[in-house]
Amino acid sequence: MSTSVSAKQRIEKLREELRRHDYQYYTLDQPSISDFDYDRLMNELIELERQNPKLLTPDSPSQRVGGEPTKEFPTVTHEVPMLSLSNTYSEEELVDFDRRVREILGGQKYQFVAELKIDGVAISLVYQDGIFLRGATRGDGTQGDEITSNLRTVRSIPLRVTSGKGLPKNFEVRGEIFMTKKDFEKMNEERAQAGEKLFVNARNSTSGTLKMQDPKIVAQRKLSMFTYFLRTNDITLKNHYENLQTLKKLGFVVNENIRLCKTIHDVKFFCEEWALKRSALPYDIDGVVVKVDSIQQQEELGAVAKSPRWAIAYKYPAQQMETKLNAITLQVGRTGTITPVAELEPVFVGGTTVSRATLHNEDYIKQLDIRIGDTVLVEKGGDVIPKVSGVNKKKRQKNSTTFSFSSKCPECGEKIFRPEDEAAYYCENFECPAQVRGRIEHFAQRRAMNIEGLGEAVIDLLVSENLIHNIADLYQLKKENVASLERMGEKSAQNLLHGITASKELPFHRVLFGLGIRFVGEGVAKLLAENFTSMAQLKKVSHEELENIEGVGPRIAESVVRFFNDKHSVKLVERLTAAGLQMKAEKKKYGSSPVSGKTFVLTGGLESLSRDEAKEMIESLGGKSASSVSKNTDYVIVGNDAGSKLQKAIELGIKRISEKEFLEMIKK
Ligand code: NAD
Repeated sequence: MSTSVSAKQRIEKLREELRRHDYQYYTLDQPSISDFDYDRLMNELIELERQNPKLLTPDSPSQRVGGEPTKEFPTVTHEVPMLSLSNTYSEEELVDFDRRVREILGGQKYQFVAELKIDGVAISLVYQDGIFLRGATRGDGTQGDEITSNLRTVRSIPLRVTSGKGLPKNFEVRGEIFMTKKDFEKMNEERAQAGEKLFVNARNSTSGTLKMQDPKIVAQRKLSMFTYFLRTNDITLKNHYENLQTLKKLGFVVNENIRLCKTIHDVKFFCEEWALKRSALPYDIDGVVVKVDSIQQQEELGAVAKSPRWAIAYKYPAQQMETKLNAITLQVGRTGTITPVAELEPVFVGGTTVSRATLHNEDYIKQLDIRIGDTVLVEKGGDVIPKVSGVNKKKRQKNSTTFSFSSKCPECGEKIFRPEDEAAYYCENFECPAQVRGRIEHFAQRRAMNIEGLGEAVIDLLVSENLIHNIADLYQLKKENVASLERMGEKSAQNLLHGITASKELPFHRVLFGLGIRFVGEGVAKLLAENFTSMAQLKKVSHEELENIEGVGPRIAESVVRFFNDKHSVKLVERLTAAGLQMKAEKKKYGSSPVSGKTFVLTGGLESLSRDEAKEMIESLGGKSASSVSKNTDYVIVGNDAGSKLQKAIELGIKRISEKEFLEMIKK
């Protein structure tokens, strides 16, 4: 009995943790653990569910393809679901996979195709009469985002395919969109220079790029595609290897490193070969995909939950390298959290040079007994943020001593403290320069106040020159003071002030998010702005009122109440109000516009507005922006190259308007 209670608790905990990582990985493109660690958690969950079948639920992360369609793009339903792959890190399990295939296929002969597992984003492309009609992400496997306009900018996707004898005209192709290591590094260098946040790896930047609303930016990011799947009724498909050749003939790019393998031993050989050669490839791979070649046998083998039985991904373990730990520094975040960072002798691992890695917290350092001067193991699992994963104690110097956490903040010198039930230390000094900079960076970022020209470097300069101490000071900056700073000049100062002034027009929920209240992310900020339509109202709100809102739990409620009870925050909000920022939700102002209460769907590319802007306009005028057309839709705004949604709108007799008509409607 007690085992099952503890199994139940562990299962719940694992599910919660995996869901959180799925959200960080698929929605935010900011994973916080390595793929290896994620897969370990997932395997533990699968094993526990296997031992306790009664506890298995269909919504468990083990049963669902990670990710989901976003609200940013129209939703498409895949004609045939896009599944995930079961994966393994061990060669023995490859042999188990072979045994299972053999058992199900009885005495039949079979062979495998081994391919590189490209570390990118899965995409489906639909062609009609040889013309590229629609492209979509995998999403939750059943429904994905329609991102045709973005995909049109990818050069390796033919807009019209080669026609000829034996070649299909109506088909679906699937493959992986990726960014080369070189393009990724170049893009990150440019971002660093512009003071923008860096992407963690090429996969995440590819995923982030595909979610952008402006195809022009997507075009600049130089994405590529390898295709590995064909589905059609135009011709008979016999085997996978042949399909790959057909894809090439149609004009798609197929990765050249594929091998037809007669036995699982040939597959193992292929995996070992590429484990050695993979770092020399111009793009990231995270393993090898092994597929049964015959399509008929694939059908016979079928699928379980979220992965086919005819394929498996053999994944490479995280790459580890040894290097010297020169120092441990403490980094202070915008909320005062202090993270220990390993300062390393630069080492090449996972395709990049690493000189800093996270050490998480004091307990982690103690558990691994990490000491300055040690030879440590540095890991880039799934190529996420590098971490120190171990110590080579044989190489330890005799006189080394254990590391003790400083009692003072490295930035402001104030005493730091560690709450009883937490692993992190905090600096409580609100004026601490690191926190000041962090808060301003958060406020200025694109998703908050979107202040152009206010990147990390400029913020450092303004803070160190004592021109600003908090976000409210930004609105009192004088052009002449900014222009006289080193590396600034008249033009940059002008642009910066322009960006700051423009931010005053941004809606209330963005201001709320920009304030950086703990646990109040973009979504919660919107929720609060919908329920409490002004800052004045929020200031008076009680814990209870907040918890009554669906989506707001005790942790958020506590943090919001605490924020509005803090004298620094209250003063700050007063100054921002005086500076003219939007402190009320706009909805009320436009209560009776022709848009209010109406549901809009956008399709195709707009000319003068980005999709985000159009949606924001609709919502701020009291309308609703939906992602798919149904009989409840009032208007479909039709842009360039509109696709299936326009078709649906015609079928359902929904009113269709152009972008121009929409803008006129808004003016009213
Ligand atoms: P997966 O990446 O293990 O395998 C399936 C995918 O492989 C396919 O959808 C396709 O996109 C890709 N692929 C690349 N080359 C291919 C080829 N030649 N043939 C066929 N497919 C190919 O599975 P997934 O469902 O996309 O993602 C789950 C994995 O993502 C997890 O196992 C984990 O490693 C990682 N993940 C990590 C985190 C994290 O926080 N680090 C969170 C969620 C998921």
